Amino acid sequence: MSQKSRKGSEHKGGGVCSFCGASAEESPLMFNGADGAMICSSCIEHGYNLLLEHNIITNPAKGGAKANKGGFKPLSREDLISPATIKSFLDSYVIGQDAAKRYMSVAVYNHYKRLISKGKTEDVELDKSNIVLVGPTGTGKTLMARTIAKLLHVPFTIVDATALTEAGYVGEDVESILSRLLQAADYDVEAAERGIIFIDEIDKIARKGDNPSITRDVSGEGVQQALLKILEGTVVNVPPQGGRKHPDQKYIQVNTSNILFICGGAFDGIEKKIAKRLNTNAIGYGTSLTQRIDEKNIMQYILPQDLRAFGLIPELIGRLPVLTYMEPLTREALRSILTEPKNSIIRQYECLMGLDDVKLTFDDDVLDYVVDKAIEYKLGARGLRSICEAIMMDVMFDMPSSEEKECRITMDYAKQRIDRVAVG
Ligand code: ADP
Repeated sequence: MSQKSRKGSEHKGGGVCSFCGASAEESPLMFNGADGAMICSSCIEHGYNLLLEHNIITNPAKGGAKANKGGFKPLSREDLISPATIKSFLDSYVIGQDAAKRYMSVAVYNHYKRLISKGKTEDVELDKSNIVLVGPTGTGKTLMARTIAKLLHVPFTIVDATALTEAGYVGEDVESILSRLLQAADYDVEAAERGIIFIDEIDKIARKGDNPSITRDVSGEGVQQALLKILEGTVVNVPPQGGRKHPDQKYIQVNTSNILFICGGAFDGIEKKIAKRLNTNAIGYGTSLTQRIDEKNIMQYILPQDLRAFGLIPELIGRLPVLTYMEPLTREALRSILTEPKNSIIRQYECLMGLDDVKLTFDDDVLDYVVDKAIEYKLGARGLRSICEAIMMDVMFDMPSSEEKECRITMDYAKQRIDRVAVG
């Protein structure tokens, strides 16, 4: 055991650092080792930095050496952004989805308020506000989570629930979720501990059938169980590079109590369960309720018990207290997605061509045509990009080697490109 001694006390008259040769006078602090060995504070600091670099020890932010390596600064009271500001930021990137935006804005505000106010609320312990977003694929669930992370400058990662299995089975442990977040945080543990994790396809780990666990359900209930602790908040030993845990591995400890989890899923067929519940209630309480139900948008009536009927276990639902839904995208919404968001697809093409000093324009009817094709191919918003890409491919190939400084995409041209792709 080494014992600490102050410069100039035990080392009067000059001990030197056994590593770098610095004298006690040159070093603000010297430590004694066995058999007269000594180490100076700068060698200790050097060693500490090496340990950090090799991920042998954690908490770089406290150690200072790797603090803010990923550019994530600690959150302060001034960073707290009101729900209205969060929503208007979302409005610049995400079209429609008003209900989901309001829910998300409040949940995110409360989450970070809870985090910043830790220790300031005396008797009341504030619960986490993890979120579930239910809605068809390609309606902006991931975009919404990503946009919030962008606004808050916190580490963000997306994981696919279908890749997860409970420990001991082939697939990824739930801890691997945290390895990804650590990587996104550039191994700044403190930043990761206030990051956001988007778990996609949460509906795919629903319990199959109504019969709970007669046999072990590797991809479903077991994973839900494994997620419980992480969602609620616990300290997890995380393998820094991901992958399976093994005994010789060095782990980084990550506390998940301040990590915000946003789960997304299409929950195909959940409308039927909602409708069934509404009908049952309607029978119980008179028929007036059925008349008030907007049958075109059943999803707006979603409640936690519908997730349960779908196959999520009650404990998991309890840890995801904020439940909201995404609306299917209408033709108008798809049309707006093309041009309105800050980084809309069309703006991105204009920007790309602009970098070559080419002014790109699209005729209005081309944009309507792109939307029609996306609907026809049943691709939703995801399809907009691939259809535009098919139209723009040759232009992007030819323009950089041409003298032309203007490029107008007409309906004839767009149709010709799409027909060619469809035929080819
Ligand atoms: P989901 O997670 O619901 O399956 P995504 O968020 O991944 O859908 O959306 C796929 C792509 O479609 C996004 O990259 C985005 O460009 C576009 N998109 C989807 N919904 C919207 C929306 N409401 N507003 C703007 N863009 C959207």
